[in-house]
Amino acid sequence: MSTTRRQFLHTSTAAALGSSASWWQPAHGEGTAAETEASAPEPTRRFDLGIASGSPTAHSVVLWTRLTGGNLTPRVEVRWELAHDEAFKRIAAAGTETAERDWAHSVHAEPRGLEPGRWYWYRFQALGERSMVGRTRTAPLATSGATAPLRFAIASCQRYDAGHYAAWRDVAEQNLDLVMFLGDYIYEGASRSDFPRRHEGGEARTLETYRARYATYKRDPLLQAAHASAPWLMVWDDHEVDNDYAGLQDSRLSAHFPGRRAAAYQAYWEHMPFPKSARPQLDAPGGTMRITGRLDWGTLARIHLLDNRQYRDPQVCPRPGQGGSNTVKLTECAALLDPRRTLLGSAQERWLAEGWDLRRPWNLVAQQTLMARHSWTDTADAGGTYWSDGWDGYPLARNRLLGTVAERRVPGVVVLGGDVHAHVVADLKADFDRPESPTVATEFCGTSISSHGRPQELLDMARSFNPHIQRSRSDKRGCMLFTLDAKQLLVALRGVDDVNDPSSAVRTSASYVVEASRPGAVAA
Ligand code: FE
Ligand code: CA
Repeated sequence: MSTTRRQFLHTSTAAALGSSASWWQPAHGEGTAAETEASAPEPTRRFDLGIASGSPTAHSVVLWTRLTGGNLTPRVEVRWELAHDEAFKRIAAAGTETAERDWAHSVHAEPRGLEPGRWYWYRFQALGERSMVGRTRTAPLATSGATAPLRFAIASCQRYDAGHYAAWRDVAEQNLDLVMFLGDYIYEGASRSDFPRRHEGGEARTLETYRARYATYKRDPLLQAAHASAPWLMVWDDHEVDNDYAGLQDSRLSAHFPGRRAAAYQAYWEHMPFPKSARPQLDAPGGTMRITGRLDWGTLARIHLLDNRQYRDPQVCPRPGQGGSNTVKLTECAALLDPRRTLLGSAQERWLAEGWDLRRPWNLVAQQTLMARHSWTDTADAGGTYWSDGWDGYPLARNRLLGTVAERRVPGVVVLGGDVHAHVVADLKADFDRPESPTVATEFCGTSISSHGRPQELLDMARSFNPHIQRSRSDKRGCMLFTLDAKQLLVALRGVDDVNDPSSAVRTSASYVVEASRPGAVAA
């Protein structure tokens, strides 16, 4: 067993036993967590939604917060500090940002000129109050020699009313370098009476109601802890706007959808640690916001962040009079094999094809949904049955992407996803219809933080139709933890015992290894 592997298992075990980190406890003044409890301070009003950091580079990272509470003037000065130490004795950078009412009094500070590959601590101050303290870091220099192992999590689908966030406590306790959130940060729908938690309002459709939904989610202390523990890389999926939307079309074919999308994009930017340059353009129909991006992590990996919602063609063969997803047989839906259809849009498809890294050992693809073919019926029967909202609805676009990977021998392609509310481990094939064809990349889908999965029996039934899928378990909520070095990727599938219990234990249900030289996951 390698040293990395031992450390990895040790960390996982420690977290399962409930070790706790102190640095993400809310900071009221300078007290330690214990002193804070003893002195019972006034509850924070201005920083109720916590803090976050994201979009790190070797020399910068975005620091986020949003002011809350009454009597906020249209423009409020907010001071931020970034320090080398948790006690803020050695300040590395500090500054002031103006939180504007027009952007929900959100703050997106962008300290620059930071040192590469370093940890920092940050906090905000405004109107006589101070935020909690967060920990963040910069990426290692892209040109330096050996890069230390990268430890990160993938997570997605955190429907608030469906459960509690023990999975986020687990993430916060891991002291990770990065958290990748792969979509469905909020769910736009009304809360259900049979669910363990309730939230404000019915379906979010306006700027105000999207903002209120983010505020509900962001008041959760375990989600705040996960944000405060590491910088996040983020992509969105459909529920940040509306279930199953595609570009400027929603599943109800509503004429009002572009305005709704613009409001949802605005609220998303207001609540996430994206740079100011990503602020949505609201004068374009539907608003536009670029979340597509790349991050080079030292000499180890290039991380590609994709957007498969904003630029996609509408789903094929919808139910009569509707848009959105459907489950269709291949031979009954000729449009499935239309080569012009794209999930990423042609510009983003080209951007990805031209940007594969042929020098670093790994190319990590952070995107929304399952890429592996997943037929719900025997493929001998009418070519199989497919869900049209995921990559299965855009099979020729998937072939183009994986074809480029095979043709150019792109090293270490690992596709990371969410959306399907199941832990899925899959070999991505040059030709999914020929199980003996080469595996060109590896896929990990990280179940859901809290959103319910489909019945496990359904997934078990489909297993034999999809031999390239090594594992598909919808019965666990949680995330996946990764340790990446130049030679291998170690993966732990994490599951909470009880999604209704915020203090639930979290355990590793399975582990996998991917060797840099050999695509495909191996059970560890
Ligand atoms: Fe989801
Ligand atoms: Ca989704």
